[in-house]
Amino acid sequence: MAQLQRIVISPEQLQEQKISLTPEQLHYLVRVLRSHDGDKFIAIDGTGNWWLTQLQGESGIVIELLDVNTELPIAVSLLLALPKGNGFDDVIRACTELGVTNIVPMLSDRTLLKPSPQKLERWRKIAIEAAEQSERTMIPTILEPMSFYSALSSFPSTQKYICEGRGNHSHLLSYLQKPGIITNDQIIIAIGPEGGWTEAELELAITGGYQPVSLGKRILRAITAPIVALSLISAACEV
Ligand code: SAM
Repeated sequence: MAQLQRIVISPEQLQEQKISLTPEQLHYLVRVLRSHDGDKFIAIDGTGNWWLTQLQGESGIVIELLDVNTELPIAVSLLLALPKGNGFDDVIRACTELGVTNIVPMLSDRTLLKPSPQKLERWRKIAIEAAEQSERTMIPTILEPMSFYSALSSFPSTQKYICEGRGNHSHLLSYLQKPGIITNDQIIIAIGPEGGWTEAELELAITGGYQPVSLGKRILRAITAPIVALSLISAACEV
């Protein structure tokens, strides 16, 4: 199935086994890919469903629900302080490929920028494209940017980690290797900005149940750290 074109639809486009294709989707299938009536493609709704579908006029007719399992066995939410420049685009793309569930763009004490609504739209588009490309069944949710203080309590979990490059903290991997890591719970990972966390932020997170962790002996860029954290989680859960 992997070679068939994947088209992301919104759940309301599907009514009784028939998908009403948007003008953009039709243009892509018919004009760009030169598909004809009867040609197959895969419709994805981003919430876990893949359907083998056949083009018929301006619609897609669902043939069957496919059994696809490309998601991590545990939900992972990343709280990410916004880095400078366009680095966040790359973080969203890579973390989507690695299986992230939610990304919270965070305004921390040392974050300079407040992103425009257009940026959020762009990040969501990048997440859709990356999810399609990496054959995921779920499209990660990119939340509205929020303050560090709101972000800390945005998801309930008992597995909450705050990455801190200074200090003598145990490695994230040492927690991930403990038995029972895969639960109904989710893992939350907070990563700071280029300037790092303030003392007040670290203290508040620890009071809120976040475990400070190391990602190794070298200081990673704010855009590298989330990729390392997610790679460790996927290795710990999938190997
Ligand atoms: N200027 C900060 C300093 O000197 O400590 C460095 C901040 S680093 C560029 C950005 C964020 O990445 C940090 O706040 C932390 O969350 C994460 N990070 C980078 N390297 C790390 C490491 N080795 N262990 C844990 N977290 C790390």
